[in-house]
Amino acid sequence: MLPLSFEFFPPKTDEQRNQLDRTAAKLKSLSPEYVSVTFGAGGSTLSYTPETVGGLRRKHALQVAPHLSCVGGSRTEIGALLAQYRASGCRRLVALRGDLPSGMATPGEFRYASDLVGFIRAEHGDFFHIEVGAYPETHPQAEDALADLRHFKRKVDAGANGAITQYFYNPDAYFRFVDDASALGIDIPIVPGIMPISNFTQIRRFSEMCGAEIPRWMARRMQAYGDDVESIRSFAADAVAQLCERLIAQGVPGLHFYTLNLAKPTALVLERLGVR
Ligand code: FAD
Repeated sequence: MLPLSFEFFPPKTDEQRNQLDRTAAKLKSLSPEYVSVTFGAGGSTLSYTPETVGGLRRKHALQVAPHLSCVGGSRTEIGALLAQYRASGCRRLVALRGDLPSGMATPGEFRYASDLVGFIRAEHGDFFHIEVGAYPETHPQAEDALADLRHFKRKVDAGANGAITQYFYNPDAYFRFVDDASALGIDIPIVPGIMPISNFTQIRRFSEMCGAEIPRWMARRMQAYGDDVESIRSFAADAVAQLCERLIAQGVPGLHFYTLNLAKPTALVLERLGVR
């Protein structure tokens, strides 16, 4: 079966913790290869990620890959977290640059994710399996698409074992990106990141921030449903399942779902793909 992974964010309140517990319990039945937990994204403080990773391993016996972003962090802080993850038996990490919170001026000791990957390899050799981010529709801050590809290669040359892409709804962007990466000699698996949709306003906002394109035909259709949330979810589940079908038909190495800590939107897509 195609390897699946599910991404969660660290909950901050008891209500959010209970929701993540329910979501993890439901999605665990779909036998993911691993789940991952974001780091410092969306305003969460750094300490929530290790706690969430520990909880998912203890309560749900899942393989968990913590995300680790380096911007704004010091070698000492990041070194301590790596030691903590290593001691607790984590073997897989998602290594990122991250984005500086607004108002924070100093980038810290690492400028790019490639610096972080190099640091992890220098400190821990091959202990960790390292995933990095990749951008089929180009990272919003890149000088241009070709420079972004070259910067992606730096992460691979620094020691990344695999990549997970930013989400996209146009499979041709992914296929082209994988071909271009291969032409540059990049031979690590590039797993597509899949974002199921449960809220059109939210996905439009996310997409503007991270540079992902919602195709016009999808946006117009979801707009037309207005407040009819069930119709939006059902339409989006069909559209995202069709995207996954095209990706699977071309032999992708896995699918990584951005769950936003909700089980249903991801489960609906997988159900349409025959995974229950
Ligand atoms: P990098 O690979 O360092 O690239 C960042 C930018 O710098 C790009 O525009 C690149 O082209 C450019 N660049 C890279 N190297 C050079 C160089 N040597 N010279 C000039 N330019 C260069 N964010 C979080 O805060 N927490 C998370 O948990 C998180 N999880 C994510 C998971 C996935 C799968 C993905 C795809 C993204 C995630 N993000 C997360 C978002 C990510 O942190 C942002 O997209 C961030 O802006 C870039 O991170 P990166 O690791 O891709 O950076």
